[in-house]
Amino acid sequence: MLELDAAEILRPPSTDDTERSGTSGPEAAFRAARPGLSGPAAPARARRRESFPMGPESRAFKRRFFRDASRAEWDDWRWQARNRLRTLAQLERVFTLTEDEREAIRRHQGALPVGITPVYAALMGLDDPSEPLRRTHVPVGAEYLRSPGEADDPLGEDSHAPVPGLVHRYPDRVLFLATAFCSTYCRYCTRSRLVGEVGGDHRFAYAQWEKALAYIAATPTVRDVLISGGDPLTLGDDKLDWLLGRLKAIPHVEFVRIGTKVPVVLPQRITRGLLAVLRRHRPIWMSLHFTHPKELTVETSEACDRLADAGVPLGSQTVLLKGVNDDAAVLKALFHGLLRRRVRPYYLFQCDPITGSAHFRTPVEKGIEIIRALRGHTSGYAVPTYVIDTPGGGGKVPLLPDYVVGRDGEDLLLRNFEGRLYRYHDPGGRIGRALATGSAEPC
Ligand code: SF4
Repeated sequence: MLELDAAEILRPPSTDDTERSGTSGPEAAFRAARPGLSGPAAPARARRRESFPMGPESRAFKRRFFRDASRAEWDDWRWQARNRLRTLAQLERVFTLTEDEREAIRRHQGALPVGITPVYAALMGLDDPSEPLRRTHVPVGAEYLRSPGEADDPLGEDSHAPVPGLVHRYPDRVLFLATAFCSTYCRYCTRSRLVGEVGGDHRFAYAQWEKALAYIAATPTVRDVLISGGDPLTLGDDKLDWLLGRLKAIPHVEFVRIGTKVPVVLPQRITRGLLAVLRRHRPIWMSLHFTHPKELTVETSEACDRLADAGVPLGSQTVLLKGVNDDAAVLKALFHGLLRRRVRPYYLFQCDPITGSAHFRTPVEKGIEIIRALRGHTSGYAVPTYVIDTPGGGGKVPLLPDYVVGRDGEDLLLRNFEGRLYRYHDPGGRIGRALATGSAEPC
């Protein structure tokens, strides 16, 4: 059985190219057994060197820690993936670690390993443990504390999986977990129980993909497939091409979404080859996982530009994180920057209660306060929907500041973004009746 694992992208490019597109070996056997695999297994598709812009943070970081790497290597997403900071020794070479961080890294076992691409590490506070992006990727001791309400699978995904790796929670759409691999590992990851544990309990293999595809094909209510993981854009072009082609061949699947952090943490992955695959299978929508305005780099901008130019509609998903981005000014800067890059802020998530995440969670009021500070004060396009993904698999519940003050006869009483009261004539309406209208001042 061929497993879709880290080895795929960690292989040296020379052998990788041969195996990926060759005419013998397991990949060829896989192709032969699957006539739907589009495109030739073509030596002619040998990788061309692709240049990628390099921002000042990357330049300084490379000069300091990867002086011997060539510019071509730095621009190669496989080189970035192979040179991720993963071990205590590699992290210590770059970061001044606190004793708490050092101990947390030493203690780590199982899923959600440490992994940070050089291009992303370049944005982090190397000597500052409180720097926002570093906090999201370098483990601390609090990760090992279990707080009330936390669970390894808080959204009950495993119990809503009709076949392994496919979550069917809403009537018309499914979540297709295509890989357990990510190029970087976020310490607050909802799927921390499974990501990075290649060959563990969650095995992502072609046989599993086939079962998921068979389920979708046999379930005509499914019109929308979200491919996530792990990070699906860490898969090679051929595998993505094959998977997208198979999904597109199912008549009732109207469109496919891809959830990814790759354009942020491994932007060099947005290659000509990948764009050709995405174009071939459109419409494909993409949800990009952004956290902080520091991520709006030269490289990330290029990745978003390439995707948007290829006709991929882009939305962002951001997790609200204590001490990282729980500030209206910070998020406003992020959302404005995303719009300038043609990415529509889509969801702001309350942090899921995964085990060991209490140090990241804010009270829910904080999220509502942030939305109140944005709504009306900036373009509506810059205001995402704030949601709680309800524990146990209840789905997403949107949360809004309460703008309905009450009712006065046939008038609905509303408070606008400036705190002023307004009436809307709403004969026969019931909204606001239950509220204490006596406390509402007529405007
Ligand atoms: S990139 Fe996404 S799937 Fe991977 S660790 Fe981060 S949140 Fe989890």
